[in-house]
Amino acid sequence: MGTIGRRRLLESAGVFLAARQMSVGRVSLAPAEPAPEGQPLLLKDFEPRSMLHVPETKVPRSRYPVIDVHTHLSSVAKHRHGVGLGEEMQYSATADEVLPLMDRKNIRMMVNLTGGVGKGLLEAIAKFQTPHPDRFLTFTEPWWERSNQPGYSQFQADEIARAHKAGARGLKVLKTLGLYLRENISTGPLVKVDDKRFDAMWEVCGSLGIPVAIHVSDPEAFFLPIDRFNERFEELNNHPDWSFYGGDFPSNAELLEARNRVLARHPQTQFIVLHVGNDAENLPYVGECMDRFPNMYVEMGARIGELGRQPRMAKKFFEKYQDRILFGTDAVPHGKDTPQQIFTDKLYEIYYRFLETEDEYFDYAPAPVPPQGRWRIYGLGLTEEILKKVYYENAARVLQVKI
Ligand SMILES: [Zn+2]
Repeated sequence: MGTIGRRRLLESAGVFLAARQMSVGRVSLAPAEPAPEGQPLLLKDFEPRSMLHVPETKVPRSRYPVIDVHTHLSSVAKHRHGVGLGEEMQYSATADEVLPLMDRKNIRMMVNLTGGVGKGLLEAIAKFQTPHPDRFLTFTEPWWERSNQPGYSQFQADEIARAHKAGARGLKVLKTLGLYLRENISTGPLVKVDDKRFDAMWEVCGSLGIPVAIHVSDPEAFFLPIDRFNERFEELNNHPDWSFYGGDFPSNAELLEARNRVLARHPQTQFIVLHVGNDAENLPYVGECMDRFPNMYVEMGARIGELGRQPRMAKKFFEKYQDRILFGTDAVPHGKDTPQQIFTDKLYEIYYRFLETEDEYFDYAPAPVPPQGRWRIYGLGLTEEILKKVYYENAARVLQVKI
């Protein structure tokens, strides 16, 4: 570029700057330094706002009453290396705190999955289910810390029967099994999901007619290196302890196959496979499993980000398996780390919008940055018949409750 050319460029840049300062002076809004070309921007600071002009439907209440089969109002207080220990419980909210939101959002019933064991379970039942039997159900959990003791199989089966008598309406199995529980509880080799010591536990749930809500594995990306190719990079970078890449962890596929062997061995037991079987990224595979195992149900908690980014595939899945999909959110009152799970009005409005409308490209979580991957979702616009089944009919059948 010659001298004249460069001067012209500077002059025009000067004019541009002067005009910019004038208009800024008028609105008295101090601009940041004029953006140099190629300015670096940290990924964490990138919050693009969609410029799409598309319908935005607010769905303050669900079309039909809801049973949220996946919530956490209580949990076992003590943990070591991901394994819950003992009977002491902690609570994220009281019944009186959550009931007004439930009423506003048309949530008829919440299932508190992590109800603990022994005295803790009795306490959790007494706090929610006993005073409000038509609004709260409680599930019990396995006594992991006894899983390496002689006679565990029988003890565990007896405990489930005892818990059921005390009011527990199902068994919840966290991803502890497969990813944290070890032969010496927190040390030694990992215990397999299909380890025979749990057969009596699965079996007794079937004979009592109570479902097992089971979380096996985690999103596929959690089993891959935390690098620039990982679609959940930001989330894993913020929570490196959520990664199951390397070490002695089995692969996602190995965990799911072990789960399938459990489903096959216990056909009389109904399994609510949480988080769309932790393979919402691979709905053809989840469908295959549903076809193979009539005792398999799925729940959608914290996976509308996955379902909603493949709305055509997801809609077909909902149509085909409409009798075996249960509404759930994985909601926890007063959470902080995981906006996709915090028990708020906003959270339920997003789920309802996803299921009921055909809105396009909206946030799957109430957060400035999509927390489970940088994308947005599309509504499924399900029919009234399917909505009714997913919102409460399927759950009412599995849980044997009247709505
Ligand atoms: Zn959960």
